[in-house]
Amino acid sequence: MSADAPNHTPTKKLRIATCSLAGCFGCHMSFLDVDEALADLIEHIEFDRSPFTDIKHVSEGGVDIGLIEGGLCNKENVEVLREFRARCTTLVAVGACAMYGGVPALRNGIPVSELVAEAYLGDDLHNPQIPSDPELPPLLNKVLPLHEVVPIDVTLAGCPPPAAAFRELILAALAERAAVIPRPDRHFD
Ligand code: SF4
Repeated sequence: MSADAPNHTPTKKLRIATCSLAGCFGCHMSFLDVDEALADLIEHIEFDRSPFTDIKHVSEGGVDIGLIEGGLCNKENVEVLREFRARCTTLVAVGACAMYGGVPALRNGIPVSELVAEAYLGDDLHNPQIPSDPELPPLLNKVLPLHEVVPIDVTLAGCPPPAAAFRELILAALAERAAVIPRPDRHFD
């Protein structure tokens, strides 16, 4: 057994759901930076809804851990967050965007109408028009961190959090103990 495998045999796999809301997928990439240690962990974990699986909804029966990167920038983000909260025993705000809104929240000082006009109605654009298909989720007036809409159980700091933090979070859950993330792995940049 490698140093990254749990030192006991869990009776069932840890079920994990992940998603990116108003995120850049950088937190997911950092999770994958666990690299070869993931091969040891994968025997003990199972991914539910996630960009890794392409499952579109968290299982109705629920999962153990939900990892969410990104804050909330539109109404669909809020619906997804509520589904995660309802179906994940432990909900984790992963990274600066989920914890504080992150870089996308820099738009919060500007009215949405101005932002949309700047993006879609510029003189130098071909056929400038504001997208209006009803399938498009309406933007929120401000980008919000997750905790402003639902309670959050755990946070992983960083933009993105380091791979070591993800690994420790999972190892701790498998061992049914609290995660202990060393100070160097709890940075905010
Ligand atoms: S915290 Fe950083 S890496 Fe993670 S989604 Fe936000 S911008 Fe991307």
